[in-house]
Amino acid sequence: MSGTTRRTHRCGELRAEHVGQLVKLGGWVHRRRDLGGIVFIDLRDRAGIVQVAVGPDAPEEVRRSASGLTGESVVEVFGKVVARPADMKNPELATGDIEVHATKLVKVGSAVTPEIPVARAKSEELPAEELRLKYRHLDLRRPEMQANLILRHRLLQRARKTLSDLEFLEIETPILTKPTPEGARDYLVPSRVHPGECYALPQSPQIYKQLLMVSGFDRYFQLARCFRDEDLRYDRQPEFTQIDLEASFVGAEDVQGFVEAVLTALWDEAGHAVERPFRRITWQESMERYGTDKPDLRYEGLAIVDWTAQVESLGVPFFAAHKDGARVRGLAVKGGGALSRKDVDQLAETAKQFGGAGLAWVKRQGDQLSGSVAKHFSLEALGRLGVGDGDAALMTVGPDRVTSPVLDKVRQELIRRLAPPPARPHAFCWVVDFPLFESEPGTGRPVFAHHPFTAPHPEDVAKLDREPLACRALHYDAVYNGHELGSGSIRITEPALQRTVFRHLGLSPQETEARFGFLLTALAAGAPPHGGFAVGFDRVAMLLAGAGSLRDVIAFPKTTAARALFEGAPAPARPEDLAALHIQVTA
Ligand code: ASP
Repeated sequence: MSGTTRRTHRCGELRAEHVGQLVKLGGWVHRRRDLGGIVFIDLRDRAGIVQVAVGPDAPEEVRRSASGLTGESVVEVFGKVVARPADMKNPELATGDIEVHATKLVKVGSAVTPEIPVARAKSEELPAEELRLKYRHLDLRRPEMQANLILRHRLLQRARKTLSDLEFLEIETPILTKPTPEGARDYLVPSRVHPGECYALPQSPQIYKQLLMVSGFDRYFQLARCFRDEDLRYDRQPEFTQIDLEASFVGAEDVQGFVEAVLTALWDEAGHAVERPFRRITWQESMERYGTDKPDLRYEGLAIVDWTAQVESLGVPFFAAHKDGARVRGLAVKGGGALSRKDVDQLAETAKQFGGAGLAWVKRQGDQLSGSVAKHFSLEALGRLGVGDGDAALMTVGPDRVTSPVLDKVRQELIRRLAPPPARPHAFCWVVDFPLFESEPGTGRPVFAHHPFTAPHPEDVAKLDREPLACRALHYDAVYNGHELGSGSIRITEPALQRTVFRHLGLSPQETEARFGFLLTALAAGAPPHGGFAVGFDRVAMLLAGAGSLRDVIAFPKTTAARALFEGAPAPARPEDLAALHIQVTA
């Protein structure tokens, strides 16, 4: 399969079964070792590395070319596959049972000294990421990066096959489009032929996939490139890939079933067996027990508890200072007795950083209690919190909106420090019944929690006008080991309800018409019940590759400052191009 007119095999494909065969290879010089009489060349291509030996009986010109080879030059080799003597085998290398004795060796591509190393000892640190991104063509040659992108390819193919087998149709939607609200800013593309007008790059194919449902395609998917201009955090990229899907005549469980089929197939592709169906937990319960909407259920036993009633009579000043809607919530930490004073101080610091009041703590060792509020507790009082010998209670106080994120962070930090054994290695769950709106920090204005096409929970539609913030949505997230893998929802199909939601978001009827009139027109033309989902594919690939960053599974990613260092984008536009686009730069 890998054979062409210039080669018979890939370097990394050769095995003991090829012994005796004459082969033609092409690859990069990974390392070269000159042992005087014999030169060993590790020749590398995407399949791996093979050792090429140029010994004393090799033709003179081969020995000459081999001795002058520098790292990363490209050579073509003709030679014979030979079994290595038992004591020369290299179990670290898939090709380690054999080597190729070269009878012809031609340098077909010279290489300057590489700016960053490709061959690297396992213990050697990677070059600074800026350099890796700047010299991406070299960084991508590293076997780890090759493996990541090969896995990415396999995952994409598997997603495509799984959905196609489930009768989903792959349909492409436009890249030059109208804004899709997904909570970020749009990347705009100014029109040359229509002065002052812009296309937007899609934040997602959301509206188009709903239009496809109205048009009767009933199951759609796309490996969709999406663009969001947002403040970049460590795990975001301005352009990214979603496995985007939508289906008609479905309820939330049907969509979740399709997504589970895709996710379990992807995990299987990476060699992990995963059970279905995934657990379901409501947003409310997730916030109550884990302080977050992406709970890490590998450690579901370490859950937040409300201790307001249990500690009320103890007269702890730290708790009494906070009244009015404040609850005392905390974590009963099995084995928390092992936490040092310093550990707890650092956890309390984490709590403060996230805006909390700090942490109160008590730990028990034998009959001894210690900690910041230990003197207020008896063994029985601590026992009522579920804290036994060798355990600790960490507590904080305040309104839920403050304590939930604090306890989430403290919980994550505890897991990191105490490394308790996980109940299961792959903890998937569905977080369901999200609120329809969130109140915007600062203004308190309702903003949509998912996107404005999400249907309200049928039991809460009546609340839409009176108390919109109490209205739940048919919105669900897939969560894996504390990572959000994607979001989806059942959609609004009634134009009147869709208009009401836009009104709650502060859009005037004119704005609604101008921005979403085409969707409302389509919904009025006979819309089937429908819903969908989008898997954040880059994150899935990162998790399955065991990579530390999204940038390790994207061939040409942007930096956290949204720059492409390799090709140098964005770049100043030429004045004549700006003029053609009717743009004047004011800053
Ligand atoms: N369009 C949504 C998103 O990008 C996913 C969906 O609701 O299907 O998050």
